[in-house]
Amino acid sequence: MTTVNTVLGPVEAASLGRTLFHEHLVFGYAGHEGDRSMWDYDEDAIVAKGVASLRSIKEQGFSTIFEATPNDSGRDPLLMKRIAEETGFNVICATGYYKEHHGGSAYFDMRRIFTDTVAEMADLFIKELTEGIRDTGVKAGVMKVATGHSGITDYEHAVISAAARAQQATGAPIITHTEDGTAAPEQARALIDAGADPSKVVVGHMCGNAKNLDYQLAVLETGVGIGFDRTGGNRLFNDITDDDRIDMAVTLAERGYLNRIFWSQDSIANWLGRSWDGFYALPGAKDWKITRIGDYIVPGLLGRGLTEADIDQLLVNNIRSLWEGDI
Ligand SMILES: [Zn+2]
Repeated sequence: MTTVNTVLGPVEAASLGRTLFHEHLVFGYAGHEGDRSMWDYDEDAIVAKGVASLRSIKEQGFSTIFEATPNDSGRDPLLMKRIAEETGFNVICATGYYKEHHGGSAYFDMRRIFTDTVAEMADLFIKELTEGIRDTGVKAGVMKVATGHSGITDYEHAVISAAARAQQATGAPIITHTEDGTAAPEQARALIDAGADPSKVVVGHMCGNAKNLDYQLAVLETGVGIGFDRTGGNRLFNDITDDDRIDMAVTLAERGYLNRIFWSQDSIANWLGRSWDGFYALPGAKDWKITRIGDYIVPGLLGRGLTEADIDQLLVNNIRSLWEGDI
């Protein structure tokens, strides 16, 4: 029996059920704190939005989410706890850092001048996974690392190395952000070279390359899982649509990779900072929401010949395998 840390305590990996492995109850790009005079923080309203978001997928059969917000992007374990208590959902909190360009990279990047920041970050990740986050009593259950468009920076490499080291100590899975799937083979190799177990790694946003089979295979051949986790964005982040995502998933399933595909949306229930309504008015953002997989992807995959057992493999067993190995 393998247990997984949720924000309300340990649960068996076998009991997680249908899971979305990359969503956000709260997210704020680093820098939102400095704009704090211009927006209101209403904790009850934030909790209400998070609760509504999870309730909207309950009837689709989901019972667990990974809350993928890294430490430098507004992660709030106590808010997650309130939302988990109100909904009965398993919420699995992350520990880790976002890509250098859009994260809060300055602190460890400066410390790199005089100290071993890989060791410092590994200590942090291990502490948050095994003892808890600050004095909240909430333990992280997964790690999050990220890279940008132009490959892997020295800072991002340090985060990757620290996460691999912390995985060797704790067994916790690592999920990642790539910029629309770019630099994904390099990221997978960097994690593995640093000691990560590829069966416990999901390289994220690979659906950004959903028209490029050779590229998908190059990443899969390293042994990692791939995230189709910007679902709902139709030509929003790039030229990819949900139909492209379905096409590639079917192609990969035919090649025996059903057990390496991980679905999510990267939805954000609450943005910290001023209103992001303008973003959702962009063409392509209309369907970028937490219900999209249940509403469109699952029926789409079934319509293309996948079975209910295949859907369970994707949404239940693949998640469980991050702790228990291939199922
Ligand atoms: Zn995300």
